[in-house]
Amino acid sequence: MPVEKYLGVPLHRPKVAFFEFTACEGCQLQILNNEATLLDFLSLVEVVSFREAMKESTGDYEIAFIEGSITRADEVKRLKDIRKKAKVLVAMGSCACFGGVNQLKNRFNNPKWVKDQVYGKFPVESEEARPIEDVVTVDLKIYGCPIKKEEVEKVVTNLVLGKSVNHPKYPVCMECMANENICLYKLGEPCLGPVTRDAWCPGNRCGCWGCRGPADAANVEQIISIMKEHNFSPDTIIDRLECFGGFREFAEELKRKTVKAKTKKKRAGK
Ligand code: SF4
Ligand code: SF4
Repeated sequence: MPVEKYLGVPLHRPKVAFFEFTACEGCQLQILNNEATLLDFLSLVEVVSFREAMKESTGDYEIAFIEGSITRADEVKRLKDIRKKAKVLVAMGSCACFGGVNQLKNRFNNPKWVKDQVYGKFPVESEEARPIEDVVTVDLKIYGCPIKKEEVEKVVTNLVLGKSVNHPKYPVCMECMANENICLYKLGEPCLGPVTRDAWCPGNRCGCWGCRGPADAANVEQIISIMKEHNFSPDTIIDRLECFGGFREFAEELKRKTVKAKTKKKRAGK
């Protein structure tokens, strides 16, 4: 393919490839969805593999965008092969970053039982859902379920220009204040906004479920206390923390504490 030039200067368009693993493919769809900026995006990069959008595919790429979590042995091998070829590997969306909604099945601690419930005797391999970082080194992450296409464009533009990629370090509550949203807690709904980064939902009167994972230095213990003060049950809090996998360790800790408290209460005959 001829090298494109601007004022006689060759333009570097990195070769990018998109790959899906265990996912709903909604993140890839986001990239195709925004037609207003699709052509600008395509002028920045040379897409060499993107099953949702094109038939052609080559193994010659510099940036690999990975969507989905890892739930099968063949996915482990495929992901390692991609890692070997790519200079930069980007985890795209909650499934790739944290296991996403797929990792909800891990809460049963029994992958075989879950598989039997869902697929019966149908021969499907489906193990515990894992973020891709459990298998390979990840260079960059794009958060969200689904992702915002603008962030993919920002990552690519910054890579081409040699600029760093930074996510907002402040929690969502700051955006609520700036946008004069009514706090969801005042409306009786739980929200992970105080501990997560950049979310759309509170602006639409919907409490945050943490699909973009913890903000920097998130005080998750404090949000658990806030939810308790607002009379939300431990199960409600655990559901919220567990949903996308980014707050998994805090959900596990709260579960342990809840079981301990229940056992203590039972022993005391209360
Ligand atoms: S992060 Fe959400 S939208 Fe993206 S693939 Fe996973 S489930 Fe689908
Ligand atoms: S709605 Fe959520 S994000 Fe917004 S101020 Fe309240 S707690 Fe913070």
